[in-house]
Amino acid sequence: MKNFLSILVAIPVLFSCSEKKEPAEQIIIGKIWTANQAQPWAQAMAIRGDSIIAVGNRDEVLKWKGDKTDVTQYDSNQLIVPGFIDAHTHFVEAGFTLSSVQLRDAKSKEEFIKRISDFAKTIKPGTWITGGIWDHENWGGELPDRNWIDAVTPNNPVWISRLDGHMSLANSAALKAANINDNVKSIDGGTIVRDKKGRVTGVLKDNAKDLVDKVVPNESEEAEDRALQAAMIYAAAQDVTSAHSMYGYNSTFERAHRANKMITRIYADRMLSDWKELKTKIDTEGHGDKWLKIGGLKAFVDGALGSHTAAFFKPFSDSPNDSGFFITPKEKLYQWTKSADSAGLQVMIHAIGDKAINTLLNIFEKVEKENGTKDTRFRIEHLQHIQPTDIPRLAQLNVIASMQPYHAIDDGRWAEKVIGHERCKTTYAFRSLIDAKAKVVFGSDWPVAPATPLEGIYAAVTRRTLDDKNPEGWFPEQKISVEQALRAYTIDAAYSSFDEKIKGSLEKSKLADFVVLNKNIFNIAPEKIREVSVLNTVVGGRVVFEKK
Ligand SMILES: [Zn+2]
Repeated sequence: MKNFLSILVAIPVLFSCSEKKEPAEQIIIGKIWTANQAQPWAQAMAIRGDSIIAVGNRDEVLKWKGDKTDVTQYDSNQLIVPGFIDAHTHFVEAGFTLSSVQLRDAKSKEEFIKRISDFAKTIKPGTWITGGIWDHENWGGELPDRNWIDAVTPNNPVWISRLDGHMSLANSAALKAANINDNVKSIDGGTIVRDKKGRVTGVLKDNAKDLVDKVVPNESEEAEDRALQAAMIYAAAQDVTSAHSMYGYNSTFERAHRANKMITRIYADRMLSDWKELKTKIDTEGHGDKWLKIGGLKAFVDGALGSHTAAFFKPFSDSPNDSGFFITPKEKLYQWTKSADSAGLQVMIHAIGDKAINTLLNIFEKVEKENGTKDTRFRIEHLQHIQPTDIPRLAQLNVIASMQPYHAIDDGRWAEKVIGHERCKTTYAFRSLIDAKAKVVFGSDWPVAPATPLEGIYAAVTRRTLDDKNPEGWFPEQKISVEQALRAYTIDAAYSSFDEKIKGSLEKSKLADFVVLNKNIFNIAPEKIREVSVLNTVVGGRVVFEKK
């Protein structure tokens, strides 16, 4: 009996001794914002392997220093924060757009045409031109037409997307490949844009895009792998250490993971309609690991504001007979959500217009009641134009608001024209949602918007529209603090994929994922946040980006 007791006592003592004896591999000294509410600020952090072993004041942490410990000291006006988690990306697609024609900042019709013309000269005849990421609001809102580009792309089918991904432009060669002529029938949940004479212009919205999507040749595996690598390198340079990829390219991620090529941690979601396949996969292989995790499912209620395809209770202010539409019937969304939730999977659904958001909240409420699930963490992606009465429901139902602040300063240029003043008051309602205790998490929707968390923080904190016409902020009452924006990109974003125990804050035993900024964003004028740059991005203790 005596021996038994002494063993019990000895074990914890031995354990803590041996832990202390093995020194840190790295010690980081600097101004650290941890995202841990119990200890928001620290002076140093010790790392062994891919994890943090101590965070706190300098002297305490230096006790972990051994002969071989690397000690890095950062300047006191620089800032170390947890690695940013981009909670909404189309990661591999974004990788592809990095190497395609760049139209996001084409400011006029002429520039749009010229860039496509220049790009077409650099590729082989017959090769499809995809990506693009154009924005017709840049030249006043006139939709492009295939006759703008047919003459400059005689040898290449063109199928380029608006930045929101909800409409694309085909040239005549692409329409021909898809067998679309002026007699094509309309499509449920989509729009085929025609001119006054009934001629198909080449712009197809939402479900109508499938007509061309299905004839675009698949990219080779090698091309996918290259796109993923390009996306990870870009993300690392923007201080993104984890990203949620909304759907598709699951095998691309798996290949990179098997080849040990991951430098961004990925939560790879699938389409909600495929929930059974995901369930089977998880039953046999589990949820993955710290680099590549599965378990999330994505669907759509409606389209997007800029394409007039988001679903509203009342018509658009600039087109009084139109109030948008649902892409997926709500009965289907309900059935899939209920089944997926019963199977223990996480459901995240795109909803932009007030009617789409309201419908989705009703579905989530019903499923939670019927399934009796406790920790569902249902997510609404975008949640752009919520009606005021629905704001408290997010916290009540524990539904996560997964939002993209950059969209606010982008759409803020023209949203009032489309939905009027009143509905804009609760557009990108960051402040109202946080005040109502909703969990708000941030992402970019890359390639819809650039994957730049610092620009996202700038957007959430200033709400200065991209045209600089709202220096005090567009609906400034919805501005939030730097700390709130940081939480939405770190610890709360980790919560939104059930990962808050392993990442999202700089705490003992969590992953050593962090970034170093050249300025302390808590101390500078909010409008300067956009100019802050990233010095280092570290994932699992390893530097994946270093500013030269
Ligand atoms: Zn998206």
